[in-house]
Amino acid sequence: MRQIIAQVQEKIDELAPEITRELTMQVWAASRYLSGSVSREIPYEVVYGLDLALTDWVTSPPKYIVTTAFLAEMNYHFEGVPEQFYDLAERTLGVRFNHRVVQVALPQLYKHQPLNNSLLYHELGHFVDQQHGISKLMLMMSTFDPNTTMSDLKIALSHNAEYFADLFAACYVGDAVAVMLGSMAPNYGDSETHPATQKRISVVQDFLGDKDNLMVQSCNKALAVQGLPLLSKRFKSPDIASCFDNVRPYQIQSKEEVHGLLLAGQRYLVQSVGNLTGLWANVSEGDAIRMINDLVEKSLRNWMVREMWQHDRTSQNGA
Ligand SMILES: [Zn+2]
Repeated sequence: MRQIIAQVQEKIDELAPEITRELTMQVWAASRYLSGSVSREIPYEVVYGLDLALTDWVTSPPKYIVTTAFLAEMNYHFEGVPEQFYDLAERTLGVRFNHRVVQVALPQLYKHQPLNNSLLYHELGHFVDQQHGISKLMLMMSTFDPNTTMSDLKIALSHNAEYFADLFAACYVGDAVAVMLGSMAPNYGDSETHPATQKRISVVQDFLGDKDNLMVQSCNKALAVQGLPLLSKRFKSPDIASCFDNVRPYQIQSKEEVHGLLLAGQRYLVQSVGNLTGLWANVSEGDAIRMINDLVEKSLRNWMVREMWQHDRTSQNGA
């Protein structure tokens, strides 16, 4: 990105103004996410889970890196970098990127609350959709009555994108995504951009309960056309009670548990708050929420360190 700025400054007289504008706008956006990602404040543990999930969907180069930015409001979003940007940078400036960035933003307040960040998997779902055109394919493969207007189609496309992102998240964090939707957008009705919260929760619950659902079928048809894996439960919710009851981190056993820990942690939190017993009996509700989130972060961090150590040992042996 730095190279692009330097090159744009150097070639400012040769480049067409619209090219300069396009390149600098993308660099500005990317720098917000990159600076968030190098700060000490980045939620490494949840981003690790997102990177791990990405390996299920991106199996060939280029390599993708998840970058994060913080928002002052209670909101999450995904900002895509169009492939044209990378093409333009290479064609006009000769700058070639070895990595692509996936830009997700989360509320500043939640940076160390992994249990509130299961919605980042929904944002990652928007990225996978953007890469493979899943929601567009869903629209193309559906049937419409002749009176359907352009504005109806636009709404249907946005709703498809939200349903797909919810289901994508449910593949990794199960019901945690439905719980978060219920708490962040309670009783929201249909809007032009999002389906009603209750409809979104029902679709997620049908998928998790293995019930027939037209939206799930539609997503799977589109995924199959693109040669991608179908929606499936890619998480395992570990039994964390004996560790967390003793205020100890849980020792994660598999990558499915990396994702499933967010679900297990959220369930533990819901059950515990308002009913604090044992070692938790004298802890305030606010402290309990902070400490449970902290235990989740520590459990993930321990796994990350073990994996890194294992990886280093394997590569040393192989060398
Ligand atoms: Zn969304």
